[in-house]
Amino acid sequence: MISTFNKEKIRRFAERITPKSWNIVLNEKDALETAGVLNILLSIQGQDTQVYADIYGNKCYEYKGRCGEKYFANKYGDVLHKNQVKPVLGMVLGRMTFKELKFFGGDKKGKVAKIIVQLWPHLGDWRVTLVHELAHVAVYRWRAFMTKDYKKQGLFKKHPGENLRANIIKEQLTLERHHGPRFQKALLFLAKRAIREFGEEIPENDVFWKTLKFELETFMK
Ligand SMILES: [Zn+2]
Repeated sequence: MISTFNKEKIRRFAERITPKSWNIVLNEKDALETAGVLNILLSIQGQDTQVYADIYGNKCYEYKGRCGEKYFANKYGDVLHKNQVKPVLGMVLGRMTFKELKFFGGDKKGKVAKIIVQLWPHLGDWRVTLVHELAHVAVYRWRAFMTKDYKKQGLFKKHPGENLRANIIKEQLTLERHHGPRFQKALLFLAKRAIREFGEEIPENDVFWKTLKFELETFMK
């Protein structure tokens, strides 16, 4: 079990490397109902809720064979052995959801967004896992803005320029892969924030810096 103190430490770390409009919470009740805010619910997991993934990052489920032997399978039906899967350190659960806020009078006030990030802090360096998962969150947010923009462009096609713009947005949305250019940009941004925030606080020989460097080298092309 992770203590409340340590959970708050994790929350605080995430808060310090993310933009002001990102509200990092450990409990649903702490979510803000403020237009433009992105509520990120950090769901801290333990060993008992471990999830596995294959080398491509596909979620794998544990099964028991006829003789009681353990094996894993992903959604494509590939059967994998224990040494072919890895425990997941963190992941974004589901999608980003939006809620329309209203004034007392019933007028629209704006939207508030929410997303859930699961974290297994007993595995690996949770700080680097957080940097990685929050970079995925940034891509979700970007996608939401782009999709909105694209839909608007689609509604008000007045001249060829707008048509072209809509097509470019559509193409960008389609091309963005799981760890694509947008993800890499967000990862670099968050890594820079971590250096700025914790450069003096976390000692130079701490494993965090080595792991962060490795993370950047793995995903930056
Ligand atoms: Zn990832």
